[in-house]
Amino acid sequence: MTADIIDGKAFAATVRGKVAERVARLKEENGIVPGLAVVLVGEDPASQVYVRSKGKMTVEVGMNSYEHKLDVDTAEADLLALIDKLNNDPSVHGILVQLPLPGHLNEDLVINSIDPAKDVDGFHISNVGLLGTGQKSMVPCTPLGSLMMLRDYHGSLSGMNAVVIGRSNIVGKPMAQLLLGDSCTVTIAHSRTKDLAEVVGRADIVVAAVGRPEMVPGEWIKEGATVIDVGINRIERDGKKVLVGDVDFASASKVAGAITPVPGGVGPMTIACLLANTVTACCRANGLAEPEGLTA
Ligand code: NDP
Repeated sequence: MTADIIDGKAFAATVRGKVAERVARLKEENGIVPGLAVVLVGEDPASQVYVRSKGKMTVEVGMNSYEHKLDVDTAEADLLALIDKLNNDPSVHGILVQLPLPGHLNEDLVINSIDPAKDVDGFHISNVGLLGTGQKSMVPCTPLGSLMMLRDYHGSLSGMNAVVIGRSNIVGKPMAQLLLGDSCTVTIAHSRTKDLAEVVGRADIVVAAVGRPEMVPGEWIKEGATVIDVGINRIERDGKKVLVGDVDFASASKVAGAITPVPGGVGPMTIACLLANTVTACCRANGLAEPEGLTA
């Protein structure tokens, strides 16, 4: 068996297209331009790359992008003051503070100082609680993108056995909540899980969000299962630097029914969902219809 490849790059382009359409209508019918503010503290090279590509794509879909670059030794009070200003700025509908923050800054405090309605990363404790109780919230981008791909491929996920490997606040836990919301029977596995191979072998849907290169081999996967590989790992192979996921694509794609590749799977969906969350936040702030199919 050779798995269907779930093309995250193509799907992300479709999502961005829907966002651009809603943005165009907001401008035309309501005179509103959605705005996304991204705050970067310090000069972490990977974060700089992410922030640049977020800014570029924000502008490409017709939204305003506001970048705030702060020194690595910025005082917490100054960062909180900037967030307060953005919270009160009506031209800003989404606020994202690029993580990780330098060690002297309290990440929880900073994230929880963002207005939950503008928290397009979905990390604010209010959004975590709303998602956990099945209420309308801002949903973290990577799990939202993964859910969109699963819904697109399967239609209904109701009754499916889903295993999420990883229990981080950013990916694993919200992913499990979303799958539960779509009526899957959900198991969350982590570093202390006993017999992970057996747990994975029962799943119709496997979401791997661990950060360990190719740790899930094809032989663990049930024939025909759908595999969403969230992992992004940089390794060296044959003297070249390559990106691989948490799943061994070569063996898994022989058993799975469908699989996301790395790169070109979940990764592109994450930024697309950030844009989707921003236009959703803008619509909600203005009491207007939300774009269809772009929220959980
Ligand atoms: P974290 O490091 O926060 O969490 C990793 C999780 O994996 C933990 O819950 C940990 O368990 C679990 N784990 C570690 N080792 C094992 C093991 N041997 N068996 C089972 N579980 C294990 O990572 P993130 O959730 O932030 O990210 C996970 C991966 O996803 C990374 O590769 C990251 O780069 C990628 N990522 C990709 C994104 C994208 O856009 N595609 C966005 C965000 C992340 P425990 O809790 O017990 O320690």
